[in-house]
Amino acid sequence: MANIYSSLKHYLKTFAQRKNPHFEIELVCYRAPAGRPGSFVAQRSIEVKPLVFFKPSILVGILVSCLFLGTTRDALSDDFASVGLYQSFDELVTWAHAFETTNSDLVNLVEFGRSYQDRPLLALQISVQPGINDPTKPEFLFTAGLHAREVIGSQAAFQLAEHLVDGYRNGDPATMDSLAEREVWIVPNLNPDGRIRVEEGYSRQRKTMELFPGQNPNNYTRGVDLNRNFPHRWDQALSTVTDETYRGPSVLSTPEASSLWSILQDNDYFNDLWAAIDIHSGAETILAPWTSPTEFRDYPLPPEDRAKFDFLADTMSQLTGLSTDRLSYDSYGVLADSLYETFGAYAFVEEIFTGPWYYPYDYFKYFNPINQFGIDESVNDAIASAMFLISDDAFLIAIPEPSSLVILSLMGFLFILRLLEPGKDQGMSRAEARRRRG
Ligand SMILES: [Zn+2]
Repeated sequence: MANIYSSLKHYLKTFAQRKNPHFEIELVCYRAPAGRPGSFVAQRSIEVKPLVFFKPSILVGILVSCLFLGTTRDALSDDFASVGLYQSFDELVTWAHAFETTNSDLVNLVEFGRSYQDRPLLALQISVQPGINDPTKPEFLFTAGLHAREVIGSQAAFQLAEHLVDGYRNGDPATMDSLAEREVWIVPNLNPDGRIRVEEGYSRQRKTMELFPGQNPNNYTRGVDLNRNFPHRWDQALSTVTDETYRGPSVLSTPEASSLWSILQDNDYFNDLWAAIDIHSGAETILAPWTSPTEFRDYPLPPEDRAKFDFLADTMSQLTGLSTDRLSYDSYGVLADSLYETFGAYAFVEEIFTGPWYYPYDYFKYFNPINQFGIDESVNDAIASAMFLISDDAFLIAIPEPSSLVILSLMGFLFILRLLEPGKDQGMSRAEARRRRG
């Protein structure tokens, strides 16, 4: 079936390009879920009408072909299985155990909880003292897979683990230094249930697989958005159960989020979370708190935190080519914001890839590269950012204090703002955050 589709696509491309060498065509056949007939869409990359080149008879031909070919959307568009370049969750689990066994001097594998459908939630501790929480060493956390369909993130996370161990074995001085002085924690997939659904061909799944009244068990409405289930301003996140950003019935309601939160507060594992990156896709940007543009504007961070965040984000941006542009929408209950608020960690959201976005939405291709070159590029971005964040260059370099004049004027400005808008005081210093942690 896929071959017939490819031939048709090839024919149409050749036909279109003969007419105009700059013309790009993307043909998508699919069957709508409610049994609507198959349909097609022709996309173009330049400002010409997409269908003007086709005679009516050819259009009818395409339509009939699509009706015939459009048995399932998944067979005809890209999905986890058809792309075939990504490690599955089961393979990830097998890999993680083998990785620990062969590298027991550097790697400690911890199952810190079980998902809603009882799959393992795994974390890899990578340091020269695996299995030990040395209270003199700060921790660095890399998480991925909170959103099920963003498969590239988990790929980046497990390759980061391999990169660290390879670097150490090969005697790379920076890696050896980082692993000797710091403890790196990698959670390669926090949403295994949603991930399995994506692997089964439903590329739209973002949330967990827990089912709430009002949600359709068979589509994207099902579940909780893990990246809205964390404590920071959770009450302002969306409570609509059918929305893709549903926050859940209560803060940390999901076993996935609450298990992660528990291990972060467990002194057997963590004592000083210094920095973190939560890896996503669907944009190409590095975001420091606060992730919501409204909150970012209205509740500025203390200047010393802002300066350090900016330095780290700008450097990671230069290393990767990812921007530091804010997203256009507000989001609350976000993991990175919560890590900063609760632990005082320099925590980032890193969006490492985005693909084309057009109707009918091809979710897999939008959130994930579908060729090895694209995968390598995105994975390398995630690795470059992580290697910088755990390095002396990030950890040891002091950011120059803003001059006292700047601080005085800023304080005066903030004071006036506070007089005007009482109650808006969410900015918190790292010291305050640590005190609150208790
Ligand atoms: Zn995401």
